[in-house]
Amino acid sequence: MLPVIALVGRPNVGKSTLFNRLTRTRDAIVADFAGLTRDRHYGTALLDKRQYIVIDTGGLEDSSEGPIFEKMASQTWQAIAEADLVIFLVDGRAGLTGQDQEIGRELRKINKPTLLVANKAEGMKDSAQLAEFYELGLGDVYAVSAAHGQGVRDMLQMAVDKLPPEFDPVDGDEAEVDPEDTTIRIAVAGRPNAGKSTLINAWLGEERLVAFDMPGTTRDAIRVPFQRGEQRYELIDTAGLRRKGQVFEAIEKFSVVKTLQAIEGAQVVVLVIDATQGVTDQDAHIAGFILEAGRAVVIAVNKWDSLDRYQREQLERSIELRLSFMKFAALKHISALKRQGLGPLWTAIDAAYAAATRKMPTAKLTRLLQEAVQYQAPRKAGMYRPKPRYAHQGGMNPPIIVIHGNSLDHLSQSYQRFLETWFRKAFKLEGTPLRIELRTSD
Ligand code: GDP
Ligand code: GDP
Repeated sequence: MLPVIALVGRPNVGKSTLFNRLTRTRDAIVADFAGLTRDRHYGTALLDKRQYIVIDTGGLEDSSEGPIFEKMASQTWQAIAEADLVIFLVDGRAGLTGQDQEIGRELRKINKPTLLVANKAEGMKDSAQLAEFYELGLGDVYAVSAAHGQGVRDMLQMAVDKLPPEFDPVDGDEAEVDPEDTTIRIAVAGRPNAGKSTLINAWLGEERLVAFDMPGTTRDAIRVPFQRGEQRYELIDTAGLRRKGQVFEAIEKFSVVKTLQAIEGAQVVVLVIDATQGVTDQDAHIAGFILEAGRAVVIAVNKWDSLDRYQREQLERSIELRLSFMKFAALKHISALKRQGLGPLWTAIDAAYAAATRKMPTAKLTRLLQEAVQYQAPRKAGMYRPKPRYAHQGGMNPPIIVIHGNSLDHLSQSYQRFLETWFRKAFKLEGTPLRIELRTSD
């Protein structure tokens, strides 16, 4: 499971600026999709090839009046409590405020690794102004400028060093994937009340499915292994599952942290949408994170049983509009409660996994690329004529296609999308994101 870092602080100290800087590496991937990058509250940061989930808790708080402490919504406190490390951001220019002290008091109570960071400190590293932050009783204060990037990398390093030893890098832990192991790791994600627990219970109660005894809990994360026919699966829990006789029940409510970790740890994510609510902002946020994480996904439109024909049409439109960046995902209408549509859902999960792990031989990729160029050549951009020459597979899960050629920096977005569609069709890549990387030789 990836470590989780929560950014905490009163409004305007620069949390979202710092968040954007820390998570920028992956932003490029989603920048293309209008409306998706605005308002993001979670992302992943990269340090020495290791990933960390970062949550901007400012995005989770409510905007009503009142003391800061009360305004921070329960999701914020829950995220702070579940995070492995807290970065407490203050404004180095404004100095210590009452709100900082209020938050500091709460953070001291929960007794969790915390790094105190003074932002907006460009050119004031040794300033006496920062001394007052020692009053917070949270140890050393570290100066950064999120806007200019000063000190940010060292700060992340310092934060990572404060993580509990269980997160210490193990040699080669990333590479240790058993090629023989075809167990499909599934995470069920979605808003509170979408029907996730009902779906999981319906699965685990299915006659054709054999659930094995639950292994012990590690860091609160539970994995439930089970088998359906010949195929083995492992369910990564997002809500604290507990076995109660033959059924499982969720023992806690929606958790942002568990959802993010489960998505990162999964190979296929089932995104459960509550058909009676339409596609909400929260659904779109979760979908955005799935895309960013590069996970294969199946959209399960649940509670289909309680919609009439008109409502069904409305819903289809809302999905088309708000999840347009996930057109590659299969859409399955189900009723978890009535156990309807579960067979097709399994088929889609298996297909998404197969697509995400598809092998694409270099010869075929290159031939397809050349056919695409012949069908429609890239446009000239000024004095440059981009010329894609050959392609090879750069990775799996999600599939990455690396294209080599000349002047590829000038290949238009629309041409890249054309290529993506071309490859998707040829390799039947339904259910998985596809990444195209360009390597230009001049
Ligand atoms: P949030 O409410 O904590 O998320 O704060 P924002 O990230 O929205 O930043 C609040 C304001 O502070 C914005 O106007 C930013 O441009 C500004 N800001 C953020 N980081 C820095 C910094 O490092 N130096 C300076 N001078 N301004 C910053
Ligand atoms: P979770 O918070 O996502 O785990 O949601 P739950 O599984 O607890 O379900 C929330 C509510 O929706 C419960 O009252 C369920 O009985 C109801 N529900 C779940 N699935 C369906 C369904 O397919 N149809 C209908 N009509 N209700 C459902």
